[in-house]
Parts: sequence; structure tokens; C-alpha cells
Amino acid sequence: MTPKSPYLLAAAALLLSACITQSAPPSPANLTIYFIDVGQGDSTLVIASNATHTTTLLIDAGDSSHAKNTTRLVAETAPLGLDHALATHPDADHIAGFQTVLGQVRVAEFDSNGDDKDTQTYARIAEKLDALAIPKKTLKQGDEIPLAGGARAQVIWPRDGFEGDYNARSVVLRVTLDSFCVLLTGDADKKSEEGMLADNAVAPCKVLKAGHHGSKYSSSQPFLAVVSPELVAISAGEDNRYGHPNPEALARFAAVNAKTIHTAEVGTIVVTTNGTGYYVNGRYTG
Ligand SMILES: [Zn+2]
Repeated sequence: MTPKSPYLLAAAALLLSACITQSAPPSPANLTIYFIDVGQGDSTLVIASNATHTTTLLIDAGDSSHAKNTTRLVAETAPLGLDHALATHPDADHIAGFQTVLGQVRVAEFDSNGDDKDTQTYARIAEKLDALAIPKKTLKQGDEIPLAGGARAQVIWPRDGFEGDYNARSVVLRVTLDSFCVLLTGDADKKSEEGMLADNAVAPCKVLKAGHHGSKYSSSQPFLAVVSPELVAISAGEDNRYGHPNPEALARFAAVNAKTIHTAEVGTIVVTTNGTGYYVNGRYTG
């Protein structure tokens, strides 16, 4: 045996392991979306994972009276805390719950559209973010939050420089894994939808979270025609004073043959997918 042999053997072993690594199939990835029952508000938890990595993203935290639902679910499903807590816009039915979540759950980064609001709720959350030294990031159309397992959360709204009210400037996320897509619209309204369409930022998505709790001023027909959802999840409180979801919006969902599912009727809605088919509350949907 020549002195070089051990090196040759080591090189061959490395080459073999490289071949094995390359020929092995990618570890299966999963994406789970929880439309949390927070009454008349919004809170959506996204967990993307493969065999080695998990990314946790909480989009809105509902109002303060339902914050325990969000906090409990995060504690159960994301024991290491949140990689991202994201506020779509600074209205209380989306951000007030963060007062509880931020105190009880580790949060690595707080994302928003950068809007502030002159309310006690907003001021308390801003104070808490500073006290906990949580890094803040402002998102706009074109940004992306990378998720584990090849999943993606693309920010498709608001456009940089877009002027509108708080709802219209909601952060809208397109979360995808392979051929599966869910569109999370915050309280985006018809004006936001027109903007997204004009920017060619909208593409078909199997699951849509109805904009603004199923308001008639969101989920316009041209927007739904492009999104073409199979399922629309509606987060609204039982017998809420706004009449959400609105019958006109429900008729538009029916007109594009989308099924609807409501937190007020079934509680928290869980959608799971491996990137192709998906389950809704444990039932295979297609
Ligand atoms: Zn809202």
C-alpha cells in the first residue's frame, strides 16, 4: 500500500457520500396554516417544516380578549417561539393580542408595513417591542420571508409609496409550498385589490383568507376571478355587529365555486399540505 492510499480512500468515501447525498430525495416538507378562532379579529399561524428545519410565522394576534387562544396555540405548536410576528396593519382587532403574545412567547423579529397609529394599544406594543429589544422590519411588495422546506411567504402588498387608509395598506402575503398556495389578505379592500391586479401581483391560490373578515368592500369579483380559490376561510365573530361575512361577499365566493369555512362556525381552522394536496381540519380536500 502506498502512503497516498489512505487519502485516496478518504477521497473515494467523500465522493460516495456526495453521490448518496445528491441521489437521496429531498426531505418531505410540510406547511400548516392555522386560522385561529379569535372572534371578530384575525390571527393566522403558519408553520413550515422539513426534517431538519421549522419556521414559525404569526400573522396578527387578534384582539386582547382572545389573545389566550393565540398564545396557547403558539405554545403548543411552536415551543421554541416565533421566528416572525407580523402585523398586517395597526388596528386593534389584529394587533391588540400581541400585548399578551410578546410577553409570553419568544419572538425573533416583528414585521409590519411600518404604519403607526395613535392609540394606546399601538403605543403599548411599541413599548413592549422596545423593552424586549425585538428587531423590527418594514415589509413592502416584492419582499419575501423565507420559510423552511422550500416554502415561501411573498409580500405582494402594499406597493412602495401606496397611500390609503389602514385597511387598504394591509400586508398581503402569498404563502406557497410547491403547487399549494394560500393568500392572506389582512383587511385589504377593493382599492388594494385593484392595486395588486394592476401590479400583476396576483396569481391563482387554492386557499384565500377573505379580506376584512368577509366585508362586502373586499373580495371583489375581478380579484376573485384571478385568485380562483377553492376554499375561502373567513375569520369573523359570531353575530358580530358588522354583519361579517357580508351576503354580497358570500355570493361572490359562490360565483367562483369556492367553498367557505368560518371560524364562527367551526372554531380554529387547520389547513395542512405537503405541497400538493391539502387537508382542512383533518379532512382531505384535494
Ligand atoms: Zn380587521
